[in-house]
Amino acid sequence: MHDVVIVGGGLFGLVLAEQLATRCPASVMVVEREHHLGGLCWSRRHAETGVEYNPYGTHVVATSDPRVWEWITSRVRMVAYEHTVHAAVAGRLIPLPLGLEAIEAAYGRKLSPEQARDAVERDAAPYRRAPADSVRTLALAQVGPRLYEMFVRGYVTAQWGADPADLAPEVFAERFGISYRPSRGYHPEAQWQGLPCGGYSTLIEPLADHPRIEVHLGRNYLNPPRPRYRQLMIVTSPIDAHFQHQLGPLQRRSLHVHWRVLDAEDAQSTPVVTYPDGASPYYRSHAPALLPWNCAHGKSATVLVGFEAAGPGPNQIDFVLRSPQNVELAAKYAQLAAASNVLLAGRGTTFYDDMGHTIERALTLADRLVPTLL
Ligand SMILES: Cc1cc2nc3c(=O)[nH]c(=O)nc-3n(C[C@H](O)[C@H](O)[C@H](O)COP(=O)(O)OP(=O)(O)OC[C@H]3O[C@@H](n4cnc5c(N)ncnc54)[C@H](O)[C@@H]3O)c2cc1C
Repeated sequence: MHDVVIVGGGLFGLVLAEQLATRCPASVMVVEREHHLGGLCWSRRHAETGVEYNPYGTHVVATSDPRVWEWITSRVRMVAYEHTVHAAVAGRLIPLPLGLEAIEAAYGRKLSPEQARDAVERDAAPYRRAPADSVRTLALAQVGPRLYEMFVRGYVTAQWGADPADLAPEVFAERFGISYRPSRGYHPEAQWQGLPCGGYSTLIEPLADHPRIEVHLGRNYLNPPRPRYRQLMIVTSPIDAHFQHQLGPLQRRSLHVHWRVLDAEDAQSTPVVTYPDGASPYYRSHAPALLPWNCAHGKSATVLVGFEAAGPGPNQIDFVLRSPQNVELAAKYAQLAAASNVLLAGRGTTFYDDMGHTIERALTLADRLVPTLL
């Protein structure tokens, strides 16, 4: 029997496992349902094209937290990369998040930053009288109807499978925002950005490579025999499943990514493109050969492209909808968790944390747990 059991071999579980095994004498068992480590940020080499790719969709590290960046770069060499996501709108590729290029596309003319601000402010002002209690009302109040219709409504509906009027405003606040300047990339606020040289496995797999860490792949901890432990169990998988859905299931949305090898001339010219018009069968596509961790590949006649669409399918991701009902239900599950002797953490307990925040939370939890395990 191990001192600690960690359920989930994603980023959170593995950062925590590494910290506990290296900072105290505890033995740690990591139980992972899939047959690979890494959870959603897992990457691997595509057999046919030799391209490094994230099967669940492109993952880029972007952080301003010095502890997180120091932790990452002390374990793996990072390739510097300023990520840009483009929206395919009216036959053009417009960089996101919403900035001067998007405003010019919505208003159909060249604008200075001041003119762009004036135009958006004028159109958004009437919507500021309503309470900003949903994606729709917050987006209209911040960016006005033209940008909302062109960039927000179709994309949010396709990705979340819900009317923007039924989604909590945080979905817009976390994912969109607006600037009146030319684009400075997808993460303009991040101090450091990059990709692990050689893929996420070069970061992820060594974390579990410790004599006191034992990994069980392909094991669902909810199935008997349940893992036993001497001191502590930490669960990073969905919180409602852990409590047998006793308060009801959190409402989830499924996405999947279907990977295809295309002729190079049919492929997109930038790494990630979104399709906000709502008319496309997929709402985002990924071309990982264009990411700098694949630069050594040079030109090829074929290109790997991942098409991300709603619903179940290969490389499926299930995530909890941030609706007002779910926010309330998640808070009730958090109360159950607080009264439990099992610690719940990671993606199973949150609506969305990026990898930087995931690492930061795992390091902080380790700081709290290490003294109790010494
Ligand atoms: C589409 C998408 C794109 C993203 N892009 C980025 C990005 O570009 N940059 C960024 O910083 N972040 C990004 N993120 C966020 C990033 O994926 C998360 O921050 C990170 O993966 C969270 O790690 P985790 O370990 O908490 O969760 P997960 O990666 O979900 O790991 C949880 C693990 O638990 C396992 N598990 C589940 N149930 C069981 C069970 N019953 N028994 C045993 N094991 C179980 C799962 O298989 C999984 O391996 C993205 C997320 C999504 C959904």
